[in-house]
Order: sequence, then structure tokens, then C-alpha cells
Amino acid sequence: MTEYFSEHLVPAHRQQLECTEILFRSGSGTQEVLVFKNPLFGTVLALDKVVQTTTGDEYVYHEMMTHVPILAHGAAESVLIIGGGDGGILRHTLMHPGVKRAVMVEIEPQVIDMTKKYMPSICGDAFENPKGKVIIDDGCKYVREAKEKFDVIIVDSTDPHGPGIVLFTPEFYADCKNCLKPGGVMVTQSGVPFSQPTTVQNCKRDLGKSFADVTFYMATIPTYISGQMALGWATDNSALRKIDVGLLTERLKAAGFGDKLSYYTPEVHKGAFAMPRYVEKLLEKSAKIHRAA
Ligand code: SAM
Repeated sequence: MTEYFSEHLVPAHRQQLECTEILFRSGSGTQEVLVFKNPLFGTVLALDKVVQTTTGDEYVYHEMMTHVPILAHGAAESVLIIGGGDGGILRHTLMHPGVKRAVMVEIEPQVIDMTKKYMPSICGDAFENPKGKVIIDDGCKYVREAKEKFDVIIVDSTDPHGPGIVLFTPEFYADCKNCLKPGGVMVTQSGVPFSQPTTVQNCKRDLGKSFADVTFYMATIPTYISGQMALGWATDNSALRKIDVGLLTERLKAAGFGDKLSYYTPEVHKGAFAMPRYVEKLLEKSAKIHRAA
């Protein structure tokens, strides 16, 4: 009898993934961790019954969350990753020869252990790279207490529930701002606007309390249901999102890993910032509500 994993993120729109083999399951940490095999997506990591990443489609999200801010910045030497336990963001960050230090703050060590063991194509040897440093801690507590500053901050969190909820607050964003060097940029997982409209609306409002230039760029990840995901963009340096395709192409060529990518191109980078009208309307609607409040 075929077994299925049923995702519980969006009550009105659930996805089911065929589960041909359960590789790991545990509820002993901060979240229930499940790793299983699926004929289409390869190996799947789910936390608290929500798909986090799969070996089949991880490249879309990890490439767009990493190379967009780092190539736009152009001179990033230090990167802070909040969450990111599967090591995908860390691996892509460390592809950049200019990055000298990548600090990853992950609350759940089991996620790291399980992706190293069952999903090595996602993390590669990132966890062994001397330029990387993994800290097991609550990312919210880390940025509140951190003294170190970074050129780029990537918030690769779960959705706003469980331990991830603190990574969607104005206080967290303000503390991240304090950890950002002048001219730096932060990007955040900001949900799928079609089925989680309040996530992108709240991110816009709350990022706007700490940053001058806040917008979203879009990417469609097959296992994140209900369509395009909004990736939050927050900086005081509004020039960063105006970098043209020519310069991004030069930077990618100089970095020397363009042929290793499967989704990111300088043209996709620029196009991703063309915000669809339904998302603009969501943000206009919530701006009116916040102004009236
Ligand atoms: N790409 C996925 C998405 O868009 O939902 C996220 C993947 S990554 C596995 C999410 C990571 O955030 C998990 O490993 C989880 O343990 C971690 N996380 C959740 N809350 C956290 C917190 N407060 N501090 C640090 N890491 C946290």
C-alpha cells in the first residue's frame, strides 16, 4: 500500500508526497524532524510536517537566497545565515571567493546531522569548510547579543510558527540591522503570498521599521505550495537592487561558479524583482490598514 506524507502548512491547500522510504524521524528536539524518499523530489526534509527542502528542487531557493544578495553587494566578505540547517545556503555562500567568513546560527542540530547523512548533495562539504562557522543557538538570541557585523544576512528560517516565529518580529529585524555593516543587505524567507498573504504583509511592515529600502523578489519552488515565494529584501542602500545585468554578469564570471548553478542567472536575478500585481495589491492593502491604525 502506497504511503503518503501530508503537509499541514496551509489548511485549505494540502500537498501529499509519496513516501517510498522513511530514512529518519524524531521529535526529540525543538521540532519534529522527518527525512523520507520521494520518486519525484528525491530526498525530502520536513520539520513539524512542513516541507523544508528536497534534493530535487533545493537549487531554486538556495541559489536565489544566496547569490542575489551577495552578487548585488559585490564586495561581501562576511555573511550571517540564520537557520539554514540543511547547509544549502552555507554551501552556496562559500562558493564566493570573496567571502572570508560565513557564520550559520541553527537552533536544531538534528537538522544538520540528518542532512549531512541523508542529503549530502545539499550541504556538500560546507560544514567542513574552515571559512564556515556553525553555532547551535536561537538566531533571535544570537543577533540580540552579537558584536560581530556582517555584509550580508540571510534568514533561512522555517515559517512563522514554532521556533521560527521569533524570526518574523520587528525586534529581530532591528537586531539584525545592528549586525549589518553600512551598505549591507538582508534577505528573508517571507512565505508564499498567495496562501500566506499576512506573512509578506507583516514582513513589509516590520522590515520597514528598520530599513529604508524594503521589497520582495520572487522565486517559484515546486515543493513550496501555492506558487511564488516572496524573498524579503531589506537594506538602506537602495542602489543595490538597481545593479544592472551587465555588472551582475561580470561579477558572476569573476566568481567562477556560474556553470554550477541550475536556476540563478543575472537576468533571472533582475526579473525576480518585477513584483506581480497581486503581491503589490496585497502590500498596498496592508499599507492602508497600517496607516489607518
Ligand atoms: N527553505 C526552508 C523554508 O523556506 O521554509 C527553510 C529551511 S531551513 C531547514 C529552516 C531552518 O530554520 C531549520 O533548520 C530550523 O531548525 C531553523 N530555525 C527555526 N527557528 C530558528 C531559530 N529561532 N533560530 C535558528 N534556527 C531556527
